[in-house]
Formats: sequence, C-alpha cells, structure tokens
Amino acid sequence: MARAEKGTVVVIGGGAAGHMAAIAASSQGARVLLLEGSDKLLAKVRISGGGRCNVTHACVEPARLARHYPRGGPFVRKVFEAFGQPHTVAWFAAHGVRLHTEADGRMFPSTNDSRTVIDALTHATQRAGVVTRLQHPVRGLDPVEGGWRLTGTFGSMDAAAVVVATGGSPKLEGLGWLHQLGHSVVPPVPSLFTFNIPDVGLRALMGVAADPVRVRLAGLNLDALGPVLITHWGLSGPAVLRLSAFGARALHERGYRYTVLVDWTGGVGEATVVHALDRAIADHPRKQVVNTPLFGLASRLWTYLCCTAELPETKPWGELGRRGRDKLVAVITNQPFQAQGKTTFKEEFVTAGGIDLAQVDPRTLESRVAPGLHFAGEVLDIDGITGGFNFQAAWSTGHVAGRHAAQCTT
Ligand SMILES: Cc1cc2nc3c(=O)[nH]c(=O)nc-3n(C[C@H](O)[C@H](O)[C@H](O)COP(=O)(O)OP(=O)(O)OC[C@H]3O[C@@H](n4cnc5c(N)ncnc54)[C@H](O)[C@@H]3O)c2cc1C
Repeated sequence: MARAEKGTVVVIGGGAAGHMAAIAASSQGARVLLLEGSDKLLAKVRISGGGRCNVTHACVEPARLARHYPRGGPFVRKVFEAFGQPHTVAWFAAHGVRLHTEADGRMFPSTNDSRTVIDALTHATQRAGVVTRLQHPVRGLDPVEGGWRLTGTFGSMDAAAVVVATGGSPKLEGLGWLHQLGHSVVPPVPSLFTFNIPDVGLRALMGVAADPVRVRLAGLNLDALGPVLITHWGLSGPAVLRLSAFGARALHERGYRYTVLVDWTGGVGEATVVHALDRAIADHPRKQVVNTPLFGLASRLWTYLCCTAELPETKPWGELGRRGRDKLVAVITNQPFQAQGKTTFKEEFVTAGGIDLAQVDPRTLESRVAPGLHFAGEVLDIDGITGGFNFQAAWSTGHVAGRHAAQCTT
C-alpha cells in the first residue's frame, strides 16, 4: 500500500479483538491487513482460562452483562446491543466451535482446548482473505490524505481506516504513540489479582475453600460474595478477584496495603450466627467446639477460627460462655487481615486503564478526535471481572470496530 487507497483497512494487533475486527472488516468488502508486532498470533487466547479459553459468559442481556465491568460498563453495554453475547455464541457455532456452560456461567469450547478457538479464528481470517504480517510492530500513526500512515521497522504503509487492537499496556509510555494523536489515556494499573496476606496460620490452610464468603475492603465500601480459596500467598477465588477488579485503582493508590474483612458465613447476619452458636451450646454441651464445625466450613478452617478466637482446644460448647461465644462470632463474621501486595492470578489478568472512552463513539468504536481511527479490545479503558467477560468485550468491540472501519473506507 503506497498511499491511502480506498477500501483498505489495517488492523494493528493480532489478538482476540484484532482477529474479530479483521474478519468483520473483510465481511464488508474491505481489503484487510492484520499487523502483529510479535512472532505469534493469539498468544493470550492460547494460554487463557488455564489453556481452555473461557470464551464468554452465559449472560445474554446487555444491561446485565455490562454490570460485570468495573470500568467501561455503560460504554460496552451500547456495544453489546450491536454485537453481544448471543452473537458471539452464534459466531463461534457458525465457525465450528460449540461452547458449553459451567455451573458458574463460564463458557468454554466443548473441547476444553483453546486451540479450537485459535483454529476457528485463524481459518476465518484466511477464508476472509485477510493478509497477516508477523513481526510488524507499529510505532507511529499519522494522518495523510484520505487516511492514515503507519510506520515501524517495516517502513511505512497507508490505509483508509485503522483499527488499533494492541491490547493492554502495563505502562503509560506504551500508549504514548496514541496519546500523541490527541487521545487521553487513563493510566494503566493491574486488575484481577489475589490478596497477599502474610498470616502464617491462614497460609497453612492452603487449598481450603469456602463458599459463599463475604469479603470486604475496609474503608472502601466495596464487598463481594462468592467462593474464596486459601492459597500459599493468602486469599484467592472469585469473590477476591471480583474485589481486586472493582478496587483496582483504589488499592493501587494505597500501595497494595489494605485491610480485608472476611465473613466466613457469607453474610447470614450476626443474629443468625449467635443463634446457631447458642443452639450448639444447648444441643451438645459436652462436645468440643473445635470438633464441631458450623456453617458448612471445612474442619481445618473451623479449627483455625477457634484458635484465632483464643478458644482452648479442649473447650466444650457447654463451657464456651458469653465472652467466648461473642469472640467466636466476631472472628467468624468479621475477621480482619492485613494485605501487603498482590499476586498475579495465573489463569487470567488484565490491565485497567487505556484509551479514554470519552473520546470514542460506542456505536462505531471510532475516535472522536481522529476520524478513521478505531479502537478495539483491552487497549480501551474497559475491563471485566474474571469469567469470560474480557474476551466478550474483545469480540464485541472488535466486531463493531472492524465493520465500521470498512464502512468508512468506501
Ligand atoms: C493468562 C491470561 C489468561 C486469560 N484468560 C482469559 C479467559 O479465559 N477469558 C477472558 O475473558 N479473558 C481472559 N484473559 C484476558 C484476555 O486474554 C484479554 O482481555 C484479551 O486477550 C484482550 O484481547 P486484545 O486483542 O485486546 O489484546 P491481546 O490479546 O493482548 O492482543 C494484542 C496484540 O497486539 C499486539 N501488539 C501490541 N502492540 C502492537 C503494535 N504496536 N504493533 C503491532 N502489534 C502489536 C500484541 O503482540 C498482541 O498480540 C486472560 C488474560 C491472561 C493474561
């Protein structure tokens, strides 16, 4: 492409969003070039969901789906109206990928293998006639007559419309070339991480899970209810990951030093807990408290909670007394932990921040400050909680951006 030819779209970034954008642009009759900076396409899809690729979530309605995005919810809701979860499921089915739904709503390919998803996307780009170039990192974008000039180590090339689908950047400088075009960039911070809690007693329970657990962040008015997993580093599991996402920016500002309050009963309420303990006292006064776990808690966890409440191991229910009971109630319903730092959740992590949504039209994904330039995927200031929501945003924004980019080249 020597100059901005009509009908040419260049997609920058060969990830989930870039592939969807390239296929959609091609379906509108555009000539499409997909430029990938590294030597691999769809690298994150391959490792996603522990190698199984959590493609989307069983949540159909755009408004409900949008609630799973700590940043960008109202924006992405509009995108879902055009290409949402049902379109994604239908798209993959039409390309030979059947999805199955797990009990918690996550949807995976029935093969439980991310290669199935990669094959579908790769074959679809090939069938659509998309030309793919690896090791073509784009370093600069400049407006030219009728479109855009892209520059990089490959030299330069022109396109009538461009889709930027370069993914999340952990550093602000990584988005400098887009900032130069007049785009505001929301500083990136990590999301979807587990809580580092240097509590030897807790860590000794590695592998123990509880569900449901209510987890709160002290002073932040944020809470989450769901499964919690105790790990070698502290606390993990869906409730913790959800809190890490909604609290991503606030926790970053606190240098990842914060207090986590855990209600191991899942928030049944203090009166219910007192009642349950009083019943245990009345029903089996001779049994040892440590040997009688309540609320479905694992016996190791229950023993640890009794120990935290300073109950002697031999203490029977009948000798618990009001002080002992109240102490146990406090530990079970509101146990504080001092968190210091975060640990990457290996199955999924994303960057919060990116291109400011105020400068992008959700109906087209086109820039409001640089016409002809479109954005898709994690480069935008959109991120979801764990469960397939991040890929859903990539498929949806990719499809809408690609389709519109093609339309504005004619
Ligand atoms: C370990 C892990 C597991 C995950 N699992 C899941 C999951 O199961 N379900 C889910 O919903 N989400 C998951 N996610 C999140 C999901 O992978 C991302 O949200 C999604 O990949 C974003 O897609 P994208 O196309 O925007 O960006 P990316 O997938 O990051 O793709 C961007 C591409 O652009 C290329 N690129 C960057 N800069 C340039 C440049 N200047 N020029 C050319 N090319 C460039 C990059 O090399 C990359 O290939 C996971 C993330 C991780 C890290």
